[in-house]
Amino acid sequence: MTVRYVPVIGLEIHVQLATESKLFCRCSADYFGKAPNAHICPGCMGLPGAMPILNGRAAELAVRAGIALSCKIRDRLYFDRKHYFYADLSKAYQISQDGRPVAEGGLLKIRSDDGTLKPVRITRLHLEEDAGKLVHSAADGRLEGAENSYADYNRGGMALAEIVSEPDLSSPGEAREYAARIRQLVRYLAVSDGDMEKGSLRVDANVSVKQVDADTGEVLAWSARAEVKNMNSLRALERALEYEIRRHREALASGERLERETRHWNEAEGVT
Ligand SMILES: [Zn+2]
Repeated sequence: MTVRYVPVIGLEIHVQLATESKLFCRCSADYFGKAPNAHICPGCMGLPGAMPILNGRAAELAVRAGIALSCKIRDRLYFDRKHYFYADLSKAYQISQDGRPVAEGGLLKIRSDDGTLKPVRITRLHLEEDAGKLVHSAADGRLEGAENSYADYNRGGMALAEIVSEPDLSSPGEAREYAARIRQLVRYLAVSDGDMEKGSLRVDANVSVKQVDADTGEVLAWSARAEVKNMNSLRALERALEYEIRRHREALASGERLERETRHWNEAEGVT
């Protein structure tokens, strides 16, 4: 029996919206490269009594992107609190849209590896807040000699749209093409600057591989899904997926069982 290995990939793309202020407060969104904690207020820090007020411009940009992706647009906005406890989130919850995203059920056509047009289904697009950033002494020249971690909340509360695709992508090249098309779309619509180096467009990939009987098409086995983060360019996305698919194939071929897990791309070493 001959077997084939078919990658199954879905992407979650976080796009920083091109607003003047944050999602639920009046802090300036022009925070990049600014002094730590210079762009914060009781609202985005989640101090008791502070009331979030939605930035209407952010909603407008999310709807604009949703329409361009042929999504169904909800006529009311709903928000949820996603609770998690980590030092980059001073509020201990993120305001997001869980059950009722602003846009869902869309489609984006991409050029697939064989040159044909391929529809990629968009599961949803929702609004949410960004988290702050932890700065570790080793990674930041300003803190040379220190051995501490510092919390910078300037990014906390920034307006994001998260665009989630169905697992319709079947190669690293297709994933790259899809991410490039999303970036082009948000730039063209002035929804975001789409700058991956500055982190205004961040891609997480969900990947697994299925083992298929080449003659009958029957699916013989699936590898456990891995979520891969920390790719800072389209090239890094492609490389990370190539690495990850190879790892899954080898596991399937040898009968090794993989854990479902989240992995970080290490650009320097070329591994996840
Ligand atoms: Zn604020």
